[in-house]
Amino acid sequence: MKVVIIGAGAMGSIYGGFLAEAGNEVYFLDVFQEHIDNINKDGLWIEGTSGDRYIKNIRATSDPSEVGVVDLAIVFVKSTITDLAIKSNQAVIGENTVVLTLQNGLGNIEKIKTVVKEGQIISGTTSHGANLLGPGRVKHAGHGATVIGELNGETTDRIKKIADVFRDAKLEPVSVSDNVMGLIWDKLLVNVGINPMTAITGLKNGEILDYPELESLAEEAVNEAMLVADASGITLETPDAVTHFKEISRVTGENVSSMLSDVINKRRTEIDNINGAIVREGEKHNIKTPVNALLTRLVKLKEEQY
Ligand code: NAD
Repeated sequence: MKVVIIGAGAMGSIYGGFLAEAGNEVYFLDVFQEHIDNINKDGLWIEGTSGDRYIKNIRATSDPSEVGVVDLAIVFVKSTITDLAIKSNQAVIGENTVVLTLQNGLGNIEKIKTVVKEGQIISGTTSHGANLLGPGRVKHAGHGATVIGELNGETTDRIKKIADVFRDAKLEPVSVSDNVMGLIWDKLLVNVGINPMTAITGLKNGEILDYPELESLAEEAVNEAMLVADASGITLETPDAVTHFKEISRVTGENVSSMLSDVINKRRTEIDNINGAIVREGEKHNIKTPVNALLTRLVKLKEEQY
């Protein structure tokens, strides 16, 4: 399969690397020139949970015309720049291209829709974890499940085929869901609790639960988000989102969340696509979300202090 990764940072490099190793024709489209140059010169270095190796059969570029039209485009930029990345790279999308987003947060599908027909978009969630170590070098920090699905919930031939391509690339476990929006919101609700609390306090994921004040604030944020999910017509796969958020905080207790990592590295966070998105969706349905609004403002204050 001819595949392009739009935004081949930490996660894009893992998916693209595995797909290339399995013999797919893989291209990386990114704007990080040193990363592109190192991959083209020496290959992509992956280390960590899946072993240490160079993957040489990847062509990296910042120019979509060097890639041409692909079968599958996987969008893995941060949610803050999905609109820019999809518009500037739309030359790789033909009428039969399927565009997959496995990004965190809300709003990615809507942004992709501004240049891609809705019927060509599929979505999902990933429980892999990765960090970019430097140009051309990525750490596979955790191997987890990939769940993909059609936006209308149908189990089509193309979604089964893409799941098989992922399985053949050793990205197992891979499954197809008929409720992909429910899964995206499940993950969103966990991030609503963990991400801002860790970004604001500098604590690791599990440490939130050591402080009753923080734990209850995170619970309130998740409860608000559950009301918004319900009003938005979302059927959560994990209905008790508060228990789920605490479970994930515990299981990933030693991890630095992606939002805290962004704050530490003075990068723009995905707060507008997580708690900020809950506030915006809440407004549409007349649901008050004061805790999410406050957390959004506090994380933005952090960003202003860089
Ligand atoms: P990242 O910052 O490592 O990678 C993003 C890449 O996009 C970078 O290489 C950057 O150079 C590139 N980019 C920026 N502008 C671009 C443009 N205009 N066109 C093409 N490329 C561009 O981010 P990440 O950690 O891989 O996260 C990507 C998404 O996956 C986020 O939504 C994140 O929340 C989600 N996610 C991350 C993890 C993780 O462990 N890192 C786990 C699950 C989900």
